[in-house]
Amino acid sequence: MQKKIFCHFCATPLINKYIEGRTRRFCTSCNSPIYENPIPASCLVVINEKDEVLLVKRSVEPQIGMWCLPGGFIELGETPYEAGLRELKEETGLSGKIDTLLGVSTHSNEQYYSVLITGFLIKQFSGSMNAGDDASDVSFFSKNKMPKIAFSTHESFINTYYSIYA
Ligand SMILES: [Zn+2]
Repeated sequence: MQKKIFCHFCATPLINKYIEGRTRRFCTSCNSPIYENPIPASCLVVINEKDEVLLVKRSVEPQIGMWCLPGGFIELGETPYEAGLRELKEETGLSGKIDTLLGVSTHSNEQYYSVLITGFLIKQFSGSMNAGDDASDVSFFSKNKMPKIAFSTHESFINTYYSIYA
């Protein structure tokens, strides 16, 4: 991750300062550390009646061209559920109803350093499937014919589904 150079409140150049157990970026004008945290995202394990998983082909970096679960970053004011359902609609055209939380995890990301990701199970959905937004293709895959998944956290949510809920 690129180091932050200026305070995003007052534009003062930041320094390093050891605060609360680690070296942090610090604004001497605001007299405040710039706290950095994982960025929250939601993804969906959507399962059809044949027990297949819905995947989208990524049309953006990172991992462009690889398959992953539909999902994306949580916007301000959204719950993780709402963000997941919005991303599902944007990327696949499907409207879904969340069944349960499959898990919560973090994975490293070049741009944001760390992404905190919630994985939800969806078994009830409607609408016609259309790849959109950050997806160039969308399809269901059976457990035995799964392509390589772009992110290990997504893979672990899929594995959680097959080992506990299938
Ligand atoms: Zn400042």
